[in-house]
Amino acid sequence: MEELEGYSMREQAVDITPLRNFVIGFTRLIEGGPEEAVVLEEGRALLSRLIARDDWLAEEFARPHPDFYQQYLLYCDPLERFSVVSFVWGPGQKTPVHNHGVWGLIGVLRGSEGSIRFRRGPSGALEQVGKREVLRQGDIDAVSPAIGDIHEVSNNEPERTSVSIHVYGANIGAVVREVYDPVTGRAKAFVSGYSSSVMPNLWDRSAETRAALS
Ligand code: FE
Repeated sequence: MEELEGYSMREQAVDITPLRNFVIGFTRLIEGGPEEAVVLEEGRALLSRLIARDDWLAEEFARPHPDFYQQYLLYCDPLERFSVVSFVWGPGQKTPVHNHGVWGLIGVLRGSEGSIRFRRGPSGALEQVGKREVLRQGDIDAVSPAIGDIHEVSNNEPERTSVSIHVYGANIGAVVREVYDPVTGRAKAFVSGYSSSVMPNLWDRSAETRAALS
């Protein structure tokens, strides 16, 4: 193929096709406004396929911060019906006890995470639900106001980074949510935002179309 002068084509560092296919599949799933249980069941199957391989997430969206866990936006539906993020945990990092306000699916891509669930007891205090659970590579957890929405999540790996891929039923970084004092149960509003102002380029399919030319 001829070189185009003054035009630089950047080679993609990773093959992002699995993420693009996930976004396409999730868009089709959400399209008809299905019930939450259907989204969680079919979404789980889509997420399971996405995290079955670990060669599609560029390093810049898997980079830990020395002090804080990171939440990188990978995609947001234009109608904000769902968003996809990578959560990146350095050793020892954990969330405060928090809610989501919308459904969410959490799939572990690398390493492992610890999760403790809570609910509001009759007195208004938070009560732990069950034991601390460990999610390992390939495992998927679900949250929602209907099935239990309050938890605390931590990196379960003492010496290495863990990465999980989350899907939520909103533009999660812009949702007003709550963090809780685990002792008093007192809630405080928070908006998580995102750790980066750039997103992966899902749509450079030029390598495929260029290959078809030759
Ligand atoms: Fe959470």
